[in-house]
Amino acid sequence: MATIELDQVDKHYGSYHALRNISFEIADGEFLVLVGPSGCGKSTLLRSLAGLEEISSGTIKLGGNRVDNIAARDRDVAMVFQNYALYPHMTVRENMAFALKLRGETLTSRNAKVDKAAEMLRLTAYLDRYPKALSGGQRQRVAMGRAMVRSPKAFFFDEPLSNLDAALRVDMRSEIKALHQRLGATSVYVTHDQIEAMTMADRIVVLRDGKVEQIGAPLELYDKPANTFVAGFIGSPAMNMLPAAIDVSLKTARLADGLALPLPSGTRAKSGQEVIYGIRPDQWSLSKGDTGVPAIVELIEPTGAEILVAAQLAGKRVLCAFRERHAIKPGDQIRLEVDPVAAHVFDRQTGQRIAP
Ligand code: ADP
Ligand code: MG
Repeated sequence: MATIELDQVDKHYGSYHALRNISFEIADGEFLVLVGPSGCGKSTLLRSLAGLEEISSGTIKLGGNRVDNIAARDRDVAMVFQNYALYPHMTVRENMAFALKLRGETLTSRNAKVDKAAEMLRLTAYLDRYPKALSGGQRQRVAMGRAMVRSPKAFFFDEPLSNLDAALRVDMRSEIKALHQRLGATSVYVTHDQIEAMTMADRIVVLRDGKVEQIGAPLELYDKPANTFVAGFIGSPAMNMLPAAIDVSLKTARLADGLALPLPSGTRAKSGQEVIYGIRPDQWSLSKGDTGVPAIVELIEPTGAEILVAAQLAGKRVLCAFRERHAIKPGDQIRLEVDPVAAHVFDRQTGQRIAP
């Protein structure tokens, strides 16, 4: 196991700047998730850590030693891919033992390591099967087992669950998390799925266009997104973002149509400053009197635990998630209130957070 340190890592593919000045550290035993939209550079960054891509500048250290200038096979790390990459003509046991055999380990030593990994992965009963006789989830576990038997310094996962159906993905993500808790191995996990990132990570790195937008624990990113990109990317359904202008004396953000919502105390902004006022769907509440701002209900979606209500507010569609069973229907006028503590305020030009 090992720490991983990236310092000012840049990667160019010809004229395309795929990774931009990336610096962060991963603690020994940490489960770090790289998340971001398709094409933002997640695989490029992971492959650079593994030595499958050469970086253009900067340094990468593994366990304190510089590795960006050494070959993938000498870095002692293991990759687990989306497409398992199992050998079809080998049994599960042979697949898992293959790297050990190449290293020249004895049969006894190979079997001991495979048996131990198979037990942790609940694959003991399948060791003599061929990959074609396994489910997608079992194949993915074999791919992990093949990595585990080598006891690498770090595990790198590139969207390993993308080929599985939704229910199995949920199972496998708790399985990988439980496995990590037992092994305690430094892991870097790539996904475009923010829920996967939130549920699995010790810390998340949000990437966009090859740049780090924010690094933090899942709830830090959710509670204090550093900018509008992270605010919109983390959380489902997504945060409502309303264009507004600050009125310092009234401690409000003025929306279109002369409506105003309360500012969180300590918002560092000037009167007239143009902002984005962000509010998560579950942070609206329905006013019982004439407080709050008026909105017209457009659509109602009961999910069971919540009722999702889409409404027009100051010329924008907003989404509200109510846990109470309000008797409202499309066309109704409602009044929405916000606890200012729950509001997020961002500068409209820079997109950066300005609320405390
Ligand atoms: P992600 O995994 O986040 O979806 P990638 O890291 O695969 O994104 O790719 C990041 C960007 O780099 C994309 O725009 C992609 O087209 C580009 N890219 C990736 N690999 C190459 C390559 N070998 N040559 C040129 N461009 C590449
Ligand atoms: Mg990718």
